[in-house]
Amino acid sequence: MDIIDLRSDTVTRPSAGMRDAMARAEVGDDQFGEDPTVNELQERVADLLAKEAALWLPTGTMANQVALRVFARPGDDVILARESHAMWHETGAAAANAGVQFTELGTGGVFTANEFRAARKPRGHPLYPPTTLVEIEDTHNRAGGVVFPPEEAVAICAAARELGVASYLDGARLFNAAAAGKRTAAELAAPFDLVSIALSKGLGAPGGSVLAGAREHIDAAVRYRRMSGGAMRQVGIFAAAGLHALDHNLGRLAEDHSNARLIADLVAQSPRVILDPKAVRTNILVFRLTGDGPDAATVVSRARDRGVLVFAFGPRTVRAVTHLDVSRQACRLAGTLLLEAVDASS
Ligand SMILES: *Cc1c(COP(=O)(O)O)cnc(C)c1O
Repeated sequence: MDIIDLRSDTVTRPSAGMRDAMARAEVGDDQFGEDPTVNELQERVADLLAKEAALWLPTGTMANQVALRVFARPGDDVILARESHAMWHETGAAAANAGVQFTELGTGGVFTANEFRAARKPRGHPLYPPTTLVEIEDTHNRAGGVVFPPEEAVAICAAARELGVASYLDGARLFNAAAAGKRTAAELAAPFDLVSIALSKGLGAPGGSVLAGAREHIDAAVRYRRMSGGAMRQVGIFAAAGLHALDHNLGRLAEDHSNARLIADLVAQSPRVILDPKAVRTNILVFRLTGDGPDAATVVSRARDRGVLVFAFGPRTVRAVTHLDVSRQACRLAGTLLLEAVDASS
């Protein structure tokens, strides 16, 4: 049985072409700034996002952690959307590494500039923890690949600037947001002081994220990357995979989006599934299970028996993610098998 793995867009394996590019990469010691392939990738991403400078990091989690260190001090308050990656998927790193507290806002991965203004706490107050950073996740993972409304991001970042609060975009799937919203990644990145993108998600590289922003913030990030143990050596081998991904896999993300929608259309046929297929605009679908049917663990296990791997996000919540290693045909089959897994009598 061929397994259709929809647990995440991180499960992709480097293609023959990508491996070839990695094998041929010119490398040097990146801590001396001497890896030409890393330097090329950093310049390429800085250009793509229209920022002054960029920095390669081994993971997106480290990019998020470094961003906190650049802008916030222990005891500071950081505002972000409810169920953000930084809060739910980083094992408490923000508290342990940056010593910040989070204020979660909004619903469905999104919040408004007015909500931000109401939640933001001023510096110099005798009681309040000062809000020094606002973070947006685009697309928002746990909310189901939700695209943050661009005008609202502009309004939030404008309010932040006025109030002396820095802004950070966790754009692990920014290129998905751009493809879905018919904007360029640079347009979506423009309002923010610092932006991260992942090479290891929809782009299909085996590892690597990149932070981009003003030179002074990137210089600070170099220090905090080292402090996190993430400064590496001949990582041009990874950077070559990233460059190959930007050349070959950026233009096809819309296919993943339409495949996710196809799965959503099939799964939503079950009365036991709570999901609006029209809301599935990128490569992630998150559906809830009604109380009268199986729970998420049961659906995951039945799906596995049928050759489809998905992820239980909560007791009654399941996530499926499309990516470049699953074809449209495989997604159509997976949708049918998932529907069976939800509706099976035992
Ligand atoms: C995956 C992800 C990250 C972290 O990336 P890793 O490379 O897995 O550490 C950060 N933010 C979001 C929104 C993600 O989906």
